[in-house]
Amino acid sequence: MNMNDNTRIDTQAIQAIDGAHYLHPFTDNQALGKKGARVMVKGEGIYVWDSEGHKILDGMSGLWCVNVGYGRKELADAAYKQLLEMPYYNSFFQTTNIPAAQLAKLLTEVTPPQFNHVFFSGSGSEGNDTVVRMVRRYWDLLEQPQRKVIISRHNAYHGSTMCGASLGGMSGMHAQGDLPIPNITHIEQPYWYENGRDMDPDAFGIKAAGWLEAKILEVGPEKVAAFIGEPVQGAGGVIIPPKTYWPEIQRICDKYGILLVSDEVICGFGRLGEWWGCEKFGYKPDLMTFAKGVTSGYVPLGGVMVGDRVANVLLEKGGEFNHGYTYSGHPVACAVAIENIDIIRREHLVEKVREETGPYLKEKFEALADHPLVGIAETCGLVAGLVLVKDKKTLEAFDSALEVGMVCRGHMFGNGMIMRAVGDRMIIAPPLVITRAQIDEMVALIRLCLDKTYEDLKQRNWI
Ligand SMILES: *Cc1c(COP(=O)(O)O)cnc(C)c1O
Repeated sequence: MNMNDNTRIDTQAIQAIDGAHYLHPFTDNQALGKKGARVMVKGEGIYVWDSEGHKILDGMSGLWCVNVGYGRKELADAAYKQLLEMPYYNSFFQTTNIPAAQLAKLLTEVTPPQFNHVFFSGSGSEGNDTVVRMVRRYWDLLEQPQRKVIISRHNAYHGSTMCGASLGGMSGMHAQGDLPIPNITHIEQPYWYENGRDMDPDAFGIKAAGWLEAKILEVGPEKVAAFIGEPVQGAGGVIIPPKTYWPEIQRICDKYGILLVSDEVICGFGRLGEWWGCEKFGYKPDLMTFAKGVTSGYVPLGGVMVGDRVANVLLEKGGEFNHGYTYSGHPVACAVAIENIDIIRREHLVEKVREETGPYLKEKFEALADHPLVGIAETCGLVAGLVLVKDKKTLEAFDSALEVGMVCRGHMFGNGMIMRAVGDRMIIAPPLVITRAQIDEMVALIRLCLDKTYEDLKQRNWI
């Protein structure tokens, strides 16, 4: 790729106006303003380029979303066509638009059979706000208004609106803004490496699911409305639960009649080698939040798949649901989503992850566990995580104040590889179009950067 065009980009000028005026999300903006943000200017396939012409392998698919890769003309064409034809109309006043209706139908085809309806939002956070409203509405309509409590998990990520951040289990987010809102409570996450290493993983999975039952009994079963979880926790650090976990969660939800909500914003649309994470782990949610991969991030779109159990009550008893967004069913976003799902289907990306690239990444990535810095390396479909440790034999962790993950992330970025740090857990979620050869290239880059990190830490006398 010829990036000579970028010689015309004045990086410092962009950084100056950015630093002066743009408050970035999840960012210490004063520190960034002094340093200057990296300016991303171009994407093609699994690579992005910054304004200085550096080519970088995007191991994170942007923010877990660019699943079909950058530079897809089909998606640009779908948006352009719809923008000219009918760029916007709302779905509030007994009107609809063609892409929204068609996408609704298409989504019921690619989701499990209990899903025959969808509610559209503009993002994953908004989708989870809809979940909270809908769950409470459902129980009100069934004349059990005391069922208000939604149980989630520590270190979950469900977005950044008031409901999203409350459902999430990030203590740093709760600390800013008096969260969680009332009637949302959390149990411990199913993180075997941190919470169950002395046990067999499958036994730990049952134990971790048991924390849900204990919480239900503590709250009072008649007050619990729903349980929400990500199939694999993403932003929390790619926490892959033991295979026994989700079926046991399902059994407990069934036992107490509470709704089961699967937040599929990351895991949906093939990321784990099935269309949906709930299919991979064998459970049957009543509601399913989606966003990110539905358009591969090209335009914002999210929503909630509404299972028959909930939809039938809303339709038959509900009357008007006083909830919706200006951009619910946005025609341009829906047109892009239709084309994106068509790409996933015609390029067999779900099957490719399940049968080819997922197993290949597993073999290559898990081999990094032999590195002196790595305590464990694990994958599930096309997400993966490894833990940096001070002592490989005892799995002793680094002092968290050292922020070793950020040191490692710096070496990754500096050498053309985007790998995210969550504490000392380094994670990836590459585009679903990644090839075997590109997986080789990516894992070689990761190993090189682990070596550089190791040397750096030795020089600092941190190991
Ligand atoms: C990203 C994410 C969200 C929030 O989606 P936004 O589009 O950023 O609002 C919700 N849930 C999960 C699991 C996510 O990864």
